[in-house]
Amino acid sequence: MSQTYPLQQAYKDHLVEEVVSYDDALAAFDPVLGLEVHVELNTASKMFCGCSTEFGAEPNTQTCPVCLGLPGSLPVVNAKAIESAIRIGLALNCSIAEWCRFARKNYFYPDMPKNYQISQYDEPIAFDGWTEVEVDGKAYRIGIERAHMEEDTGKSLHVGGATGRIHGADYSLLDYNRSGVPLIEIVTKPITGTGDKAPQVARAYVQMLRDLLRALGVSDVRMEQGSLRCDANVSLRPSPEAPLGTRTETKNVNSLRSVERAVRYEITRQAALLSAGGRVKQETRHWQEGSGTTSSGRSKEQAEEYRYFPDPDLVPVAPSREWVEQLRGTLPELPTERLKRVSAEWGFSEMEMRDVVSAGAVNAIMATVAAGASPQSARKWWLTELARRANERGVDLEDTGVTPAQVAEIQAMVEAGTINDKLARQVFDGVLAGEGGPAEVVTARGLAVVSDDTALGAAVDAAIAANPAVADKIRGGKVQAAGALIGAVMKELRGQGDAARIRELILTKLG
Ligand SMILES: [Zn+2]
Repeated sequence: MSQTYPLQQAYKDHLVEEVVSYDDALAAFDPVLGLEVHVELNTASKMFCGCSTEFGAEPNTQTCPVCLGLPGSLPVVNAKAIESAIRIGLALNCSIAEWCRFARKNYFYPDMPKNYQISQYDEPIAFDGWTEVEVDGKAYRIGIERAHMEEDTGKSLHVGGATGRIHGADYSLLDYNRSGVPLIEIVTKPITGTGDKAPQVARAYVQMLRDLLRALGVSDVRMEQGSLRCDANVSLRPSPEAPLGTRTETKNVNSLRSVERAVRYEITRQAALLSAGGRVKQETRHWQEGSGTTSSGRSKEQAEEYRYFPDPDLVPVAPSREWVEQLRGTLPELPTERLKRVSAEWGFSEMEMRDVVSAGAVNAIMATVAAGASPQSARKWWLTELARRANERGVDLEDTGVTPAQVAEIQAMVEAGTINDKLARQVFDGVLAGEGGPAEVVTARGLAVVSDDTALGAAVDAAIAANPAVADKIRGGKVQAAGALIGAVMKELRGQGDAARIRELILTKLG
């Protein structure tokens, strides 16, 4: 193994850990992933009571004796949440339990007033499924261990500390509005055989899941608001034939980009430990967005420490086969099928399609095409201008702040000759700066292309006068020399001239 080096940006309040280069890590070890995704369902009320689930309300205004865990209160299951859980299970090719129960998971956190969480343990509603993702043109099949129902916890706010963590805080506040919001936890089987593509496969899986859940209409899947949260398990082993190594679980990674980065970092950190003869500690770790590292959290509880037992307050869930089949009939076109369909419809080359998938632009292009743009123009804007901006800002493509409808509107203005590609970039700047929609930005910034002959004619005359030698060449028949004059006119008009019309005027004026 070659040299190790410390991470420059590691948080000063966390231990700086050694890592090796990604290539060195992959040369010596085979990574294995396990992904746990929590998704908040978008039911109107909570999992076991009638409280609203609306996001962003004043703290503790959406609570009742059930979700506050007051003695004597009794939970009643939300039928809509069960329906969503079954549909998610079916979309992931899972078997649906004929009979299953809720269990109490006992642990003690202030944001969980009952001191247990209602979850499912050995009887999940959906189990043993699979799905598929594509990375760089290769399909990876991902086994789904289970999808089970549970309730969310409340939220703690630690006040006074520098980091927002409990360390150094003066006091903590609790908000129980989220307590009891229905969650589905989707757990994969160990994902093997990804090799150096492990970080991208992890990202592609979470992205596919987000698209799937959105298509099902069961969640608003906003990672930045925490309605879709990913915990990434990573372990290394010396070879694909070796038994699984000790894994770490990096918690609550809240963007697609961070999923990829967190997996990559853990691979390099664990490889450094193992190749130095150390051991990986089984623990939860926290993703540090700023430094791009993970830091040690609590050591991981074993299932027995939670003392699970069936919740005696809740009846078992026994969905009839008729109901399950009826729900199967409500499944929308799933992301993998949709990808096949649009690949055929859009007519992109294999390479172009691969780039679209890697950039996570399938949805955005679909929506832009639906808003009236051609597939090629939609692809062009999302993969160049918007991908660059997403990258600069460190956000996912769909979170740049420009909507597909706005992209279609900008493209329509380009096609109508109101603006050109160069001006379109300034329109994107304006939209991103919060100056309004594309049309407003064009007006406010005065970006429309100048195609009026009086204004253009004056600029053309000035350019001819300033470049007599070029003008003579054109008079002499060297039409290709017109480019230099067009450039001069465009410069004069700050890029806002109608290039085709300028060319016509030059050639007319110079015979
Ligand atoms: Zn309640």
